[in-house]
Amino acid sequence: MLDVAIIGLGPVGATLANLMGNMGLSVVAFDRATEIYPLPRAVHFDGETMRVFQEAGVADELLRCVHVSPGMKFVNAEGALLVDWPRPMEIGHHGWHASYRFHQPDLERLLRARLRSRPQVQLKLGCDVYAVDERDGHLTLRYEDAHQGSLHALDARYVVGCDGARSLVRRLIGSELEDLGLHERWLVFDIILKRPWARSLGDFSIQFCNPKRPSTYVRGVGNRRRWEIMLMPGDDVTEIVRPENIWPLVRKWITPDDADLERGAVYTFHSVIAHEWRKGRLLLAGDAAHQTPPFLGQGMCAGIRDVANLAWKLRAVISGEASPALLDTYQAERRPHVAEFIELAVRMGRLIQATGESQAQERDRRFDGNPELMNSISPALGPSPLNGAIAGGGTLSWQPMLADGRRMDDVMGAAHFCLVARPQWEGAELEAVCAKSPLKLKLVLATDPSVLSWLDALHADVAVIRPDRYLLGTATTLDEVRQLCRRISTFDVAVTAG
Ligand SMILES: Cc1cc2nc3c(=O)[nH]c(=O)nc-3n(C[C@H](O)[C@H](O)[C@H](O)COP(=O)(O)OP(=O)(O)OC[C@H]3O[C@@H](n4cnc5c(N)ncnc54)[C@H](O)[C@@H]3O)c2cc1C
Repeated sequence: MLDVAIIGLGPVGATLANLMGNMGLSVVAFDRATEIYPLPRAVHFDGETMRVFQEAGVADELLRCVHVSPGMKFVNAEGALLVDWPRPMEIGHHGWHASYRFHQPDLERLLRARLRSRPQVQLKLGCDVYAVDERDGHLTLRYEDAHQGSLHALDARYVVGCDGARSLVRRLIGSELEDLGLHERWLVFDIILKRPWARSLGDFSIQFCNPKRPSTYVRGVGNRRRWEIMLMPGDDVTEIVRPENIWPLVRKWITPDDADLERGAVYTFHSVIAHEWRKGRLLLAGDAAHQTPPFLGQGMCAGIRDVANLAWKLRAVISGEASPALLDTYQAERRPHVAEFIELAVRMGRLIQATGESQAQERDRRFDGNPELMNSISPALGPSPLNGAIAGGGTLSWQPMLADGRRMDDVMGAAHFCLVARPQWEGAELEAVCAKSPLKLKLVLATDPSVLSWLDALHADVAVIRPDRYLLGTATTLDEVRQLCRRISTFDVAVTAG
């Protein structure tokens, strides 16, 4: 029997398989497709997401095929700046840059290549899972292998549906989708520059808030450039993706003399969240659990955060260190977090997609160079016993670069809670607290100046970091440290069984 079966090997499933493989679990990952999805999708991810890719073991290779993004500008039909959202060009608190441009197939190739080097992970490509049944405390998956034309079954303790927007697992859970109100059709295409581009739009992403034809430009990696163009009444979905209809839409910037059209597709951008993310041993992550319009470049990022939150909880439950009740904190923590991003993307969509003249004029007055919309984007996890009501709880920890050049997460290792304390603390007392913890808790004495500055910024002597790098909380007394550790005991098998 395998520990975890993952249905769907998009970026979210492939990241989860790497995280779980890294933690020593036996994993099988299915995808009905044999090849990586070929149509244009994600072009941006953030520093927190890069931190998860670091944990998944692909950050160094990924760094060779990304471009650090300087940010995004919103302009109106006359080209006047409405909102400026610059992103820092220096390494930030996560130990990475705030914003990266990338090509989604590059990432997926790296994630799959890393999986092939993990003996405890089996990949089943070209295999369509069509049923999952629960029996005798485990799940049986039934799937069709398209290469062989044969049917098979396989048992796993848990199944995670990373199976995208039309998720089978979501249907098996019986979850409805909550509708957050935005559903618009956009044409999305990538071009490859043939030569230096005379009328280059530069490195910022640009939201052209033109009521006649809202559109987005993104400077991709290498010679790749992205346009996303809103469909207007009268546009024909099948006609508009033809090259002869695409080029006129961008002729004021670029023509077929400058570039080749690589690929294009029409998408309906949705804003939805599943009501239930778990039923017993079945769980959802990524687009299967939520979908967002791409204006913030956060759809995939949210899925990557899901699996960072879920992976260590599944490990703790499967290893018997924690009770299955720990898995209830997954939706409790992730749903409010992702909802905040989707709601902001919907607000941003309304700003970009204002197509009535009066609506657009009102928008232009409101956002006359006012970046306020963007400043609200730092949600904490939703409340759970593992973060609530404790100083700093539920916010993401920093990842200082240590004096020896290592990143802090690499020192902490995977799957541990870490208790980071100032060196003047009595090591033996803290060791004793760590030893009593039901989940793995590792003591790290903060001798490095960058870690001490982080504790200074937290106004804390001790910080307890969860395996997904969010803070359980901070403390300044031994008693507070004990209280924090009691939080972890909430999910001790012995406690919850009693
Ligand atoms: C135009 C556009 C731009 C975007 N831009 C960004 C961006 O800049 N930043 C960002 O973060 N996000 C962005 N996104 C969103 C991002 O692409 C998605 O959120 C991400 O691809 C979802 O990943 P996933 O692994 O959850 O699902 P998917 O990538 O959809 O993968 C699901 C996989 O499951 C497989 N599958 C499904 N059912 C079964 C089954 N029964 N058996 C076997 N296999 C199955 C499918 O074949 C598929 O490979 C964008 C999306 C679009 C459309």
